[in-house]
Amino acid sequence: MKALKIVNAQIPCFEDNTWKVSDILVDEGKIVKLGTVTESAQVTIDAEGKIVSPGFIDIHAHEDSINNKEFPFFTAECALRMGVTTQAAGNCGESADDLGDFCQYIQRNGSPVNYVMFVGQNSLRHKAGALDWYKATEPAQLDRMKKMLEECLEFAPVGLSCGFEYEPGVTAEETIRLAEVFGGDNHVISVHFRRDGEGSKESIDELAYIQRETGLAMQMSHIGSCSATGYMNEALSVLRGYREEGVDIMADCYPYNAFCTGIKTAVFDDGCFEKWNKSYEDLLITDGKYKNQRCTEELFHELRKGDEDVRVVAFVMNDDEIEEAYRQPFVMVGSDCGYTNGGGHPRGAGTFPRVLGKLVREKKVISLIDALRKMTIQPAERLGLQYKGAIREGMDADLVIFDPETISDRADFLTPSLPPEGIDYVVVNGRIAVKGNELIDGRSGRYIRHQRI
Ligand SMILES: [Zn+2]
Repeated sequence: MKALKIVNAQIPCFEDNTWKVSDILVDEGKIVKLGTVTESAQVTIDAEGKIVSPGFIDIHAHEDSINNKEFPFFTAECALRMGVTTQAAGNCGESADDLGDFCQYIQRNGSPVNYVMFVGQNSLRHKAGALDWYKATEPAQLDRMKKMLEECLEFAPVGLSCGFEYEPGVTAEETIRLAEVFGGDNHVISVHFRRDGEGSKESIDELAYIQRETGLAMQMSHIGSCSATGYMNEALSVLRGYREEGVDIMADCYPYNAFCTGIKTAVFDDGCFEKWNKSYEDLLITDGKYKNQRCTEELFHELRKGDEDVRVVAFVMNDDEIEEAYRQPFVMVGSDCGYTNGGGHPRGAGTFPRVLGKLVREKKVISLIDALRKMTIQPAERLGLQYKGAIREGMDADLVIFDPETISDRADFLTPSLPPEGIDYVVVNGRIAVKGNELIDGRSGRYIRHQRI
């Protein structure tokens, strides 16, 4: 008997922008039959009135540390509850200390979601001894970085991630030399760009230059946090211009008007509040001894000088600019999730339901099928995931069953990991992982090796 049958499923067809009703038969982790399924299965779910979507693919995620014993897979479990079945992790220049350890840990133990991994440029810099954020690497350090990246290829990462804003000393040339290790084939380079706001245009020019020089697919990270401070229209038109010239550049975005990062990072260097036209009180401290307090000038300087890089949420972006980003066919949904000891930004538990509830149902910014495209087939194609992102026979059985009338996010800045409403089931590799908000199986995810096509 086959493992799972879903009947009366309403499925998005991205090729022709339509919906079809079908049964789905699942066995051994794969979708084995569509259409009318008469044979019985060990488990049958009636999805009448619900949408059955391919599992959401989060093209911009940060992985949990496998060494965190107190909160193992906290971030990934929150992701799973909001319908994410695959994460592209290791973003913004920061990735697992040891990709081999991470890969082997997941191969041995499983994980809540599937992972494809970026290798972070800044992580390589630190391991090579380039510890000054404001300085370019020495040639010998860059050689060490290239060697370490070559060693990572054994574990088939999807590409390189960069966090220029965090390490202003990184040059485009360093990045181009490092990217040579991938040999210019179908890998991806994911970049958290150099300067927010008024620096948007030059920052995008730099990404286009790197794309042309490396041949890698350029994924601009979280365009909302970079440009939704009065510069979105300009940023989008620069991107459109480059795309028309044949530059392979796309972007991702999370649906919140605030970003979250460490207070000691270069993001909060002198001039940041002037650049955003905001003040100290627009920061919310999310961990450490001032957790859930608004910042003040005094606290800001105390925390900047402190030993611990306390995470803060910065309310500096505009909702209408984020909506404009999602209207663009080249902007996908990416959460930028990543909790530290259970604290952080609600995007890690709310991004995908928030787009479907707030932006699709309530504000009608984009259609349901366009939103799902940005969460499934588009990131699957971008990341080279041939067996994910669509419901077809032979594809991996990663599925989300949700009610389009009720799906919504509940996590907020004071309760950032609260699960969403309206998701009935999440299936990962053919196994029911979430039922209601209950986690049933948090170890059916796999490590996905990037395929060189
Ligand atoms: Zn980032």
